Amino acid sequence: MVKSNITKSLEKLEFTNLKVFPQIVHSVFTRRGGVSNHPFDSLNVSFSTGDEEICVAENRNRIANVLDRNSQSVFLDQVHGDDIVVLEDNKVEIPFLKADGIITDVKGKLLFIQIADCQSVMMFDPENNVIANVHAGWRGSVKNIVGKCVDIMGKSFGTNPEYIVAGISPSLGPCCAEFVNYKKELPESVWKYKEKDSFNFDFWELSFYQLLQKGVKATNIENMNICTKCFSKTFFSYRKEKLTGRFACAIGLV
Ligand SMILES: [Zn+2]
Repeated sequence: MVKSNITKSLEKLEFTNLKVFPQIVHSVFTRRGGVSNHPFDSLNVSFSTGDEEICVAENRNRIANVLDRNSQSVFLDQVHGDDIVVLEDNKVEIPFLKADGIITDVKGKLLFIQIADCQSVMMFDPENNVIANVHAGWRGSVKNIVGKCVDIMGKSFGTNPEYIVAGISPSLGPCCAEFVNYKKELPESVWKYKEKDSFNFDFWELSFYQLLQKGVKATNIENMNICTKCFSKTFFSYRKEKLTGRFACAIGLV
């Protein structure tokens, strides 16, 4: 993981394994360096949490300018499902995309996922220059949206999973992902990710194994290992604060 300050206050983190590719830009932005007021302070990129629109628009602008001024930002209407859209070359207008994952081989599109405890799982296929960004909260993880994304990259672009480079963003860690009613809320297939002496689950490990199962190499998967609830001063955390913003995770081909 590489940490850098762009201005006095705007901060971004990058995956070491994705940073080596000059044909892409990517970043996880902290909650610092934006213009939103409490409880959305300050780099909130979500229009649907009650923040002022003018602030969210300015925050999104700042982020896009840092990543690539010439690219178009693409945000999804995330619904905790497992639908994944493939962005094709001939689509000039970005429609209102209700989905939780997005894949493209088109240059100049910044694929955004906005989160506050959920995971953004970014993927890059350097052989075919294909990028993906997936929103994996516990509902998406249970549906294996991460594995589904690898499948679609293969079907749509001929991606060989062996070459996929993947990153798991800051998100709710096993230290804080408590599911007291897990027998009702989670299917039995994921119970093995429960910690032995608590009701806490390791959804980082689940994403890791979902990628492995599809053929992604362990050495190509990087987890930032940062829990958003433990570090809620740096990242928005829904579990910690309930009414809060969403931070930005983005990847683009340039
Ligand atoms: Zn934690």
